[in-house]
Amino acid sequence: MAVETQTFKNFVGGEWVDAASGEIFESRSPATGELIGTFPRSGPEDVDRAVEAARAAYEEWRLVPAPARGEILYRFGALVREHKDELALLMSREMGKVLPEAGGDVQEAIDMSFYMAGEGRRLFGQTTPSELRDKFNMSVRMPIGVVGVITPWNFPIAIPSWKIAPALVCGNTVVFKPATDTPALGERFVELLVEAGVPAGVVNVVHGGGREVGERLVAHPDVPVITLTGSRETGVAVMKAAADNLKRVHLELGGKNAVIVLDDADLDLAAEGIVWSAFGTSGQRCTAASRVIVHERVYGALQSKLVAAAERMRLGPGWEEDTDVGPVINEGALEKIHSYTGIGRDEGAKLLTGGEIATGDGLEHGFYYRPTIFADVEPGMRVAQEEIFGPTTSLIPVESFDEAIRVANGVRYGLSSSIFTRDVNKAFRAMRDLNTGITYVNAGTIGAEVHLPFGGTKETGNGHREAGQAALDVFTEWKSVYVDYSGRLQKAQIDTAE
Ligand code: NAD
Repeated sequence: MAVETQTFKNFVGGEWVDAASGEIFESRSPATGELIGTFPRSGPEDVDRAVEAARAAYEEWRLVPAPARGEILYRFGALVREHKDELALLMSREMGKVLPEAGGDVQEAIDMSFYMAGEGRRLFGQTTPSELRDKFNMSVRMPIGVVGVITPWNFPIAIPSWKIAPALVCGNTVVFKPATDTPALGERFVELLVEAGVPAGVVNVVHGGGREVGERLVAHPDVPVITLTGSRETGVAVMKAAADNLKRVHLELGGKNAVIVLDDADLDLAAEGIVWSAFGTSGQRCTAASRVIVHERVYGALQSKLVAAAERMRLGPGWEEDTDVGPVINEGALEKIHSYTGIGRDEGAKLLTGGEIATGDGLEHGFYYRPTIFADVEPGMRVAQEEIFGPTTSLIPVESFDEAIRVANGVRYGLSSSIFTRDVNKAFRAMRDLNTGITYVNAGTIGAEVHLPFGGTKETGNGHREAGQAALDVFTEWKSVYVDYSGRLQKAQIDTAE
């Protein structure tokens, strides 16, 4: 495919600018190695300028009525919808997703923009009675200031929207650092926000690495909120670094998500759900099903269905119509995924299919890995505990429902879970007992909708949630307001008799 190469810039205070150093880095397609564009390799100085612009813009933006801020998000959502095909194709080129999934990623941003635009007319607080006469009590949401937005490459349009749309409607300004593997998508995202009418300085983008740009953003004293989606290791580093300024840190991190298949399940449906959850986006979703916990009575039957489905999948560039599985993001990821095949083998797991880097028919120009299934996996094995972030899943046989729940919960992460069963009692017990932020019944581990909270328990995050009303808690402070209209000094907790 002919790729249009461009030179991109940072966006600071309403101007498109190069990095102070003048240095650049490249973004290349993981499908073919073709150059997508060059980007400023920014450093701390560029972050400081962007934060200064965002800080200055905040004083005006926080006073723009929230419905008017929401109107801009409506326009943005409409623009993203208008450009959906173009963005999906760029996504497929820049990070490898197959086109229908790339379209879904863009659709999430459309949905989130419209949902958060509506918040401009809500942002509900509370009114309460007062314990004193002639006194009025309420709580209101207040914006916080400059929000540092740090995103991964795997949902390169959806995740920025999950963070930037609520941050803006709440009255904050933003410095956005997209992942270095998907800078072109980050850039297009901001261009459309500008076209929608976001004023200068309200959204700034600074391209560059975690070390050079991310760390400075996290350490900057004028950035009171950091929202990061990324790996657990990055989350730990960010939380430690942010502690010096007691920042609010919102973390959405890794997963080791399980599908449970009970002996009464519809096995064809379960197999379809597992294949979609394990191999979609080449297994590079935070909600990917990297464990399948199967009742021993259906273990053999499910294995055959999964292997047959995995071996039917065609690998190729995401924009080709008959591609089922695109490339993984880069060479480092390919090596890491392949190393887990060795780890699984060494641990005694049985490799049913895959386990190799795919070449031939042009695949050698990109980073392709065959859908991989391990069987007879023990719950404590590394392949069943660690996030591989590739098209590899592990089948773990169990003898009972209770064992299935125990195994599902026996990992450090707690993002998504799923159970296939026709037994309503077991489904409800699983909904109660699976310790994850998201649970699906008779569906795979993916498919979140933007109006419900999104996030995980345990080491998947730090207790915050993205999306839905819950997102507003990340981007606002509560203020309680008391208005005394009695004309005299009334003392709370003291003048109680009246
Ligand atoms: P990553 O942690 O390598 O990078 C994420 C972002 O953090 C990038 O922009 C990176 O440049 C930046 N970064 C890296 N080090 C930093 C530092 N020290 N300070 C500040 N910023 C830093 O993750 P990735 O490879 O881009 O994404 C994959 C990971 O993201 C997986 O672990 C996946 O599970 C997770 N993820 C989680 C969710 C969720 O909602 N829970 C969603 C998508 C992806």
